[in-house]
Amino acid sequence: MPLSCIVAIGDELVGGFTLDTNSHWMSERLRLLGYPVKRVTQIRDKPREIAEQVGRELDDADVTDVFLSGGLGPTPDDRTFAALADALGRELVIWEETRARIGRRVQRMHSMGLLESPDVTEGNLRMARIPAEPAHVFKNRRGMAPGTLYEVRGKRVFVLPGVPLEMKGIFTEEIEPEFLGGGNAATVRELRFNFAVEARFYPLMRELEESYPDVSVGSYPNFETKELVIRVLGADPKRVEQALEEIRRRAPV
Ligand code: AMP
Ligand code: MG
Repeated sequence: MPLSCIVAIGDELVGGFTLDTNSHWMSERLRLLGYPVKRVTQIRDKPREIAEQVGRELDDADVTDVFLSGGLGPTPDDRTFAALADALGRELVIWEETRARIGRRVQRMHSMGLLESPDVTEGNLRMARIPAEPAHVFKNRRGMAPGTLYEVRGKRVFVLPGVPLEMKGIFTEEIEPEFLGGGNAATVRELRFNFAVEARFYPLMRELEESYPDVSVGSYPNFETKELVIRVLGADPKRVEQALEEIRRRAPV
């Protein structure tokens, strides 16, 4: 069974400046594709901390796929590729195809009057410097930073830019079709109760935990709408349906 983890990288995320919408978006996509997420981590743009977190994910025997986002930009505060090279024990190399793409993009932006100079700057070039021996380099039709894929110790490590539009573009256009096929999405069903007292569901949910160990049942109260959502999730649609029916029949409302 594939199981993913996401590492969102950026001082702005852990500092509370920027909401980590990338992880939220990827978690849903990965669940729907049958590559559900075990863990989401947010970390700073600190090379040692990035390398350590990648190491932890690679050591986790449950995890088959690791998704990193952020820290691929043109400025010195973006350090993901250098840290990853360190974690994987690989050199940083200039990826020619990416350099050429960046060159063409700079030319185009210059001719549109968006850039003063048609020359590739050191900052631009930084984005073409990636850890050696990628299993795949994604194009990124919306920006300069490439996405990359590494195969390490039987796992896949996907590296994506932090810019949400670029991350989503690479994910849906380049990663999903080629690398995330054949998964089995879990079945999800929900029941909604108005003004229900959550605590009263405790005995029933305890019982379901015993009788449906293959199904997960969660209770999610919304204090604004006064609605209680009971969400049932599992690999076998029949079992999910049975558990749902049991809740519907015995709900303490
Ligand atoms: P970076 O790839 O780290 O240079 O990120 C570029 C921009 O993308 C940042 O300035 C943030 O505004 C945005 N960004 C980075 N990571 C995330 C994330 N996890 N969720 C939402 N936005 C992000
Ligand atoms: Mg950043």
